[in-house]
Amino acid sequence: MHDFRVRDGQLHCEAVPVLEAAERFGTPLYLYSHHTLIDHFRKLRAAFAPVTPLICFAMKANSNLAICRALIREGAGADIVSVGELRKALLVGAPPSRIVYASVGKTAAEITAAVRAGIFCFNVESAPELEQIDLACRRLKTRQRVSLRLNPNVDPHTHTFISTGRGTDKFGLDEATVLRLFADSARYAGVDLAGVHIHIGSQITAPGPFLAALHKALTVIRRANRRGARIRWLNLGGGLGIVYHREKPQTAAAFAKVVLPLLKGRGLRLILEPGRFIVGNSGILVTRVVYIKDTGAKRFAIVDAGMNDLLRPTLYGAYHDIVPVAPKPGQTAKTQRYDVVGPICESGDRFAADRPLPPLAPGDLLAVMGAGAYGFAMASNYNARPRAAEALVMGRRIHLVRRRETFQDLVRGERIPAALR
Ligand SMILES: *Cc1c(COP(=O)(O)O)cnc(C)c1O
Repeated sequence: MHDFRVRDGQLHCEAVPVLEAAERFGTPLYLYSHHTLIDHFRKLRAAFAPVTPLICFAMKANSNLAICRALIREGAGADIVSVGELRKALLVGAPPSRIVYASVGKTAAEITAAVRAGIFCFNVESAPELEQIDLACRRLKTRQRVSLRLNPNVDPHTHTFISTGRGTDKFGLDEATVLRLFADSARYAGVDLAGVHIHIGSQITAPGPFLAALHKALTVIRRANRRGARIRWLNLGGGLGIVYHREKPQTAAAFAKVVLPLLKGRGLRLILEPGRFIVGNSGILVTRVVYIKDTGAKRFAIVDAGMNDLLRPTLYGAYHDIVPVAPKPGQTAKTQRYDVVGPICESGDRFAADRPLPPLAPGDLLAVMGAGAYGFAMASNYNARPRAAEALVMGRRIHLVRRRETFQDLVRGERIPAALR
């Protein structure tokens, strides 16, 4: 569910007409609903309330400071994948005791920064990384909690680029290595090997793959504990799917209903790392039609947003609903098929193919739905395009939460050496 609805013939975000936001801040514009964001977080928290999990928002889905702040204020923690995200999390007031850190390539400098900040837990993805964390902690004369990320070798049946728990994926550790590291825990005086982490992929709509991975994790935990480990934390990662098109993803409540009975009586505290589930349907990308071009073979609606603003259709072949923001009376009656494309010099710069839409004209506004997760977060300056503005609606009010980039932003940091002058 989300708070983008057509009322009086116009798309609204909560109580604000999207048209008004577009006129005020220009296009392309990312527009977020605060209520939707918080509602999704609360739904997950309520579903798992019996075990009061630590819910760490996966910041890589959307690290806008206002979005993160809204969730931290609700009691969320942060799931980070870089020191940049660590610093953003701390900036918005995330308690270090609610920060968990995953990534296959944490550098020594990143590890030291996170240990110094006193984060709750590292999700360790290789044996040399564990050595590095141990070294950093002994140097800093401290001890750090870690979870070992188990690669459970299950196929999550999602797009291959967002599958992370198959034996051939670069993420996590195989079972034998996990068991060996737990058995060798005495060698790592600087770390407390306290947990097991799994994260098998993203946009997973069925419970099967989660359950298969969870069973693997529980088996590994039982085996490790039998050999002397003391595992208290189970991190189930993120990956809960949302509705982009006709998906029927499991609800938070249904997910909790299958997971909670399996954890009963095991003495394990739970961590969750949702990203997309919380923020995906909380945001849209508002774009304006620049030209209509009918080539005979195709009818193109050329819009002012491109793959540099929203990469998902190009990168994953992802489907996003596209709806007119303020259709003229009668405009919605009959539809025509359009390829909705951006201005970028790439044939892959296409938001939709042969999509039935009401007859469009230059100047019309379109909303690309479900753009809150991995939308702005993946935006780039390709084609020397300044990145879009972002605004957050709270009821009747609308707040600019990131100004549109300028030409100055584009060239900041670049230098022409004297030898070229
Ligand atoms: C990306 C990621 C997440 C969030 O995934 P979603 O599909 O957005 O919920 C959680 N944990 C880890 C380790 C990740 O890499």
